[in-house]
Amino acid sequence: MRNLLITIDGPAGAGKSTVSRLLAERLGYRYVDTGALYRGVAVAADRHGVDPADDAALGRLLSGLELRFRPQAGGQRLLDGELDITEAIRTPAISMLASTVSARPVVRAFLLEIQRGLGREKAAVFEGRDMGTVVFPEADVKFFLSASEPARARRRFEELRAKTGSACLAEVERDM
Ligand code: C5P
Repeated sequence: MRNLLITIDGPAGAGKSTVSRLLAERLGYRYVDTGALYRGVAVAADRHGVDPADDAALGRLLSGLELRFRPQAGGQRLLDGELDITEAIRTPAISMLASTVSARPVVRAFLLEIQRGLGREKAAVFEGRDMGTVVFPEADVKFFLSASEPARARRRFEELRAKTGSACLAEVERDM
């Protein structure tokens, strides 16, 4: 089969990661979690004390950022230079900050180039929010995945509970 570029977009908690990972595994394709890149920017902003509203400071931060995925058995790691930030990107505080930095055009423009570079060789499943619309409008196959609000909130709540040992469903619903 020829190498396809596949995109999967949709809102938080719709099940994109699970479906994207399984699809990539089944096809022997690369899986690219683009939310992890936004989270990587958030971790760097946090570490360097950069105010996400300050575009000049964000620009300087981005120019020194070296985000890359390193394939590994049982999943892939996210590195910033030589620093492994795979776990650091998954905290609730970083989720909030990732959402803030993802609204900054300077961040979106920076990650657009990285994502297009990762897609050059195709044979990949890209998961995100704007994969089929902005990043890869010419993708071979585009999916938009959604689920009901209660189902999405419950999925996020269970993820959070498994990770932190405690979570409040009403709070997760409100945040989403
Ligand atoms: O999907 P995930 O929760 O890891 O995404 C982290 C943050 O990055 C979210 O706030 C999401 O809206 C944002 N994001 C984005 N565009 C993408 C992927 C994620 O704005 N392509």
